Amino acid sequence: PVRTRFAPSPTGFIHLGNIRSGLYPWLFARARGGQFILRIEDTDTERSSQEAVDVILEGMRWLGLAHDEGPFFQMQRMDRYRAVVQQLLDAGLAYRCYTTPAELDALREQQLAAKLKPRYDGRWRPEPGKRLPPVPEGVAPVIRFKTPQGGSVAWTDKVKGLIEFSNEELDDLVIARPAAPGEAIGVPTYNFCVVVDDLDMGITHVIRGDDHVNNTPRQIHIFRALGAEPPVFAHLPTVLNEQGEKMSKRHGAKPVTAYRDEGYLADAVVNYLARLGWSHGDDEIFSREQLISWFDLDHLGKSAGQFDEAKLRWVNAQHLKMSPDEALVPLVAEQLARRGLHGLAEDPRSAARIGLFKDRCSTTAEIADWLSMYHGPVSPSEAEQAQHLSPAIRPALVALADALAALPDWTAAAIGQAFKGVLAAQGLKMPQLAMPVRVAVCGRAQTPSVDAVLSLFDQEIVVRRLREA
Ligand code: GLU
Repeated sequence: PVRTRFAPSPTGFIHLGNIRSGLYPWLFARARGGQFILRIEDTDTERSSQEAVDVILEGMRWLGLAHDEGPFFQMQRMDRYRAVVQQLLDAGLAYRCYTTPAELDALREQQLAAKLKPRYDGRWRPEPGKRLPPVPEGVAPVIRFKTPQGGSVAWTDKVKGLIEFSNEELDDLVIARPAAPGEAIGVPTYNFCVVVDDLDMGITHVIRGDDHVNNTPRQIHIFRALGAEPPVFAHLPTVLNEQGEKMSKRHGAKPVTAYRDEGYLADAVVNYLARLGWSHGDDEIFSREQLISWFDLDHLGKSAGQFDEAKLRWVNAQHLKMSPDEALVPLVAEQLARRGLHGLAEDPRSAARIGLFKDRCSTTAEIADWLSMYHGPVSPSEAEQAQHLSPAIRPALVALADALAALPDWTAAAIGQAFKGVLAAQGLKMPQLAMPVRVAVCGRAQTPSVDAVLSLFDQEIVVRRLREA
């Protein structure tokens, strides 16, 4: 069975570019009826924070990317990593290295002077018949992995095709930092922990950003040393921001949850991110079910995707159209609550109001801007008042207020009839009356069909706003 994982580092708030690396393994697991595992890689204790963990968990929950196992935290698995380091030591596949930082610097200088690529020279690597230097006093050793010498390591990447590294390029990787006094083994290093985790968690497909391509040959060697075949790898091209730089918090990328707050739908963001690095013919708009049934690793894009907010807004607008109005009620209610306006969730007319306006909106925040006319006072601009609420129109507004106040049935059809009566009596055309009515009741001169808009207000409020105008 397929088992995938998302392994974010909680350093900085997760943005759309990062979370796409969680979407693809989730989709692939769902597409194959497999399991999706969430693992928080929090070993960089200086830069990791609980707030960043919370944004990851909240972002994944909001987008509906539920994990089947986890979240696991690497900091809670240190004993396990140390045990596996010990296993490699016992098997003669790793060794203690007492080279001091000063010696490493000197070695580096020498190699650079000789125009060689700096690499550890294996002076503490045990070999049959080799005499190792005497163990120095007071030096805390690191533990290094015995990288195979000669030959190469290769894999067929699901995105990039065949990738091969010569083993010459890989020196003996440090898998545990210098041990503190009294410790047998220091803190295990990143590339090592990842492999232990992927093995323990039974990961079959590693889908991650291509900034990890250079780690993969080292990780493959460790898999093999632990007696396992490496998983399938798919390295995703980076996501660029609108300026063409790698998307990053430093370059202003917003946390994922900001898009929820701005009124984007989870399904639309999932759709947009899926399309940002994967394709299914020319299709642009996908339901979650379609994505799950069509997603595959063979159609991942090879070039970097570029974030485009206008496109995201367009995708969101399509999803607003596709959503049942009823389903949007709680989301629009939340947006109105941010504006201090309450009561939408309980009002039986909310779904109809949303249906009336959503086609001209790209976000639920924009729908809320429209619906605010139903939930609080309106304040037309001076210019609109001057243009549309001239003294000449006042008799018609009063006549309409009277006609509307007398209506026994408060429906769009009845309101339309009342308009017709007033227009005939006053010798006006529809726009001459409709625009002033909109400004007076809705606070703006442009709206969908005025009888439909008015029918979703309380009758008394319409009459009162007309009289006040
Ligand atoms: N923690 C790594 C990152 O956030 C991902 C490592 C992996 O997927 O193997 O870039």
